[in-house]
Amino acid sequence: MQDDALARAWLRGFARAVEEGEDRLTALDSAIGDGDHGINMRRGASHVRRMLLRDQVPGTAGELLDEAGLLLRDHVGGSAGVLYGSAFQAMGAALPGDRAGAVRLGDALQAGLDAVVRLGAAVAGDKTMVDAYAPAVTAFRAVCARGGDLGEAATAAAAAAKTGARSTVPMQARKGRASYLGYRSVGHLDPGAASTEMLFRSLATEVTAGPDPEFSYVRIACMPGV
Ligand code: ADP
Ligand code: MG
Repeated sequence: MQDDALARAWLRGFARAVEEGEDRLTALDSAIGDGDHGINMRRGASHVRRMLLRDQVPGTAGELLDEAGLLLRDHVGGSAGVLYGSAFQAMGAALPGDRAGAVRLGDALQAGLDAVVRLGAAVAGDKTMVDAYAPAVTAFRAVCARGGDLGEAATAAAAAAKTGARSTVPMQARKGRASYLGYRSVGHLDPGAASTEMLFRSLATEVTAGPDPEFSYVRIACMPGV
């Protein structure tokens, strides 16, 4: 059980989800933005995939996430490039060493959210990726706090991200490009919240889809130091 293997699988799964969801993200951003979220994210995803395929990939989970963050910052563009890039770099910095453990993953997810909020200053209800990201982190850490395992935590986070993304539909955007539309932004799902739902769905999928139960992450306890 190695954290770097999970980080690699998560990044690969997120990149695949973004590539498969490119058209949907673009359609969502066309409704309330400038229609580039899908293509921007897909460009970043392809750089991350190439990084994972290279021989000399960074070693630890933290290094992998940091490297992915750099690539997303450099290649995604738009608001999302800086926000996702910084989130991944913050997650990477929060995961030093070889065996970070599930609780540390919760801390890392929180550090990623903190970076997004520090940069974008969005609060809950502003109709941004924060409306999916924040409830996902809360759900993940709540499972850990009551002694749950990584499978439960990641599954709860994915469900919360999905509900959070859906909750942006009736909101009026107060941050980002969609805010220029005022009340006309109401009735549409926020594209960044949709890609954040993909981020947490891919984490849950990779955590729970171990081919061999021996090597599955699903039963790892969310306990300090594990
Ligand atoms: P741009 O708006 O520059 O074209 P993208 O289309 O790539 O960038 O990304 C748009 C998404 O970025 C939005 O749907 C929203 O979720 C997110 N976003 C924009 N501004 C902010 C912000 N200040 N805080 C958090 N997320 C934001
Ligand atoms: Mg856009």
